[in-house]
Amino acid sequence: MANEEWLRYFGKLVQCDDAAERLRKLGLYLVDYEAGWSQSSLPLEKLGYASETLRAGNFDSVIHPEDIPPYRALFDRVRRGNEDEFFVEFRIRDPQDKWHWIQSHGTVLRRSPSGDIALFAGFDQDITARKEAETLLRRSLAEEERHFALTEALRVAGMAASTMIETDATIDLVLQQALAYIPFELARVYAYDGEGLSVIGQEYADNQAFNAPDHGASSPIGEVVREKSPVVLDTMDPGAWKSAAEGMPSPRSWMGIPLVLHQELIGVLEFCHLKPGVFRSEHVWPAMAFGDTLAVALSNARKYQSLMEEAQTDPLTGLHSRRFLMNMGAELLARMEAEGKCTSVILLDIDHFKMFNDRYGHLIGDVVLRETADLCKMVFRQEDLICRFGGEEYVALLPNVSAVVAGNVAERIRSRLERASFPGIESRVTASLGIATSRPGKKQRLEELIELADQAMYRAKEAGRNCVVLAACTD
Ligand code: GH3
Ligand code: MG
Ligand code: MG
Repeated sequence: MANEEWLRYFGKLVQCDDAAERLRKLGLYLVDYEAGWSQSSLPLEKLGYASETLRAGNFDSVIHPEDIPPYRALFDRVRRGNEDEFFVEFRIRDPQDKWHWIQSHGTVLRRSPSGDIALFAGFDQDITARKEAETLLRRSLAEEERHFALTEALRVAGMAASTMIETDATIDLVLQQALAYIPFELARVYAYDGEGLSVIGQEYADNQAFNAPDHGASSPIGEVVREKSPVVLDTMDPGAWKSAAEGMPSPRSWMGIPLVLHQELIGVLEFCHLKPGVFRSEHVWPAMAFGDTLAVALSNARKYQSLMEEAQTDPLTGLHSRRFLMNMGAELLARMEAEGKCTSVILLDIDHFKMFNDRYGHLIGDVVLRETADLCKMVFRQEDLICRFGGEEYVALLPNVSAVVAGNVAERIRSRLERASFPGIESRVTASLGIATSRPGKKQRLEELIELADQAMYRAKEAGRNCVVLAACTD
């Protein structure tokens, strides 16, 4: 519609008796600065602000403090004549002290010759419901984001717990993920062995200038262990810690989470903060979820550890396994070679062992194997590697031991075995031993040395058994 036409229509409308009232209902307000007269909008009047109560002077006392500066800044621009239009959203207090959101859209209709505002009109709208809906939406979006962050942190922690073998690195990673959700200054993981707790990992958020918790007999961590349930303390008495360095603050907020797997307590996860009242009920569930992840990681680490020990140990004799000797022995041999020192290998094979099994049964055969191993453990040194190499064969690796000395050691074992008495066996138990010694600079492999010792052992068998044979020099 062309401008003139619109004005014509508007003029007609204005002649309508209740035009002003109708526009006021839509939110129209008018301020005549020259006449000192104003008409407030219906939305403001509903909140108890009639025209006379809304003079510029008292506006600041009813508008929300946060909304005053932007309101003032904008209105100053209009007052100075930088612009005529005015659009602002602000909160205003009703007589019951409840805040309402008002959207105000106004314009200068006339200015005095000096440029001051003479007549100002605009529309107010109560947008409280919309603002509240927006706040709710923002809050639920933020909540959603926090949930997503927690799910993601738990996923990363869970992946680490199920795929990583190094416990230290797993604990570090899980605690770092927990920090994204639980506001701690220090988090610690304790392992529980059925009797006591020992620290196995910890993570500082940033500040390390405080006393780490030192738990005494009456510490709340005891309750976590006893009850296998979480404990949250808002205001930990600084005197509750067993000891605390002078001049350093001690944690005031504390949360302890039991690490439980299949109803068994395997550790405790604790969170500390210097300020009181930091840990709330909303932190307990995520802390327990991170705790579950740690419990799985610790249990996996324990299983892995015992599997490793199992793989490295011969269950019958308690000696090292063949695999362990081949791994560690190769390293040891290389180290000796690098230091220019020789290494001797002694291979011991029990004579006519099959006969013991056949005559006395396998259980007695096992006793012979164990007793022979015990005898070896007594004769060899701490630094020698002894393993059960196969059925009734043992291999010992003697670092920095010459062929002559190895021959003496082997002879000592042979003669002690010959003289030993075994429970349930009248016959003598003897063994044939072969020895091979590395020659520095020759870079022999462990397999080669064992093979040479094996050949020497066979020559001992050929020589009538119950004797020691040294491998001939190969160069
Ligand atoms: P030689 O003097 O030539 O060494 O004769 P031997 O009988 O000792 O040698 P052989 O290799 O013929 O027999 C080894 C026996 O060791 C055969 C096997 O049944 C037995 N054996 C291997 N492992 C075990 C074990 O763990 N326990 C028992 N009781 N016997 C085992
Ligand atoms: Mg054999
Ligand atoms: Mg044998």
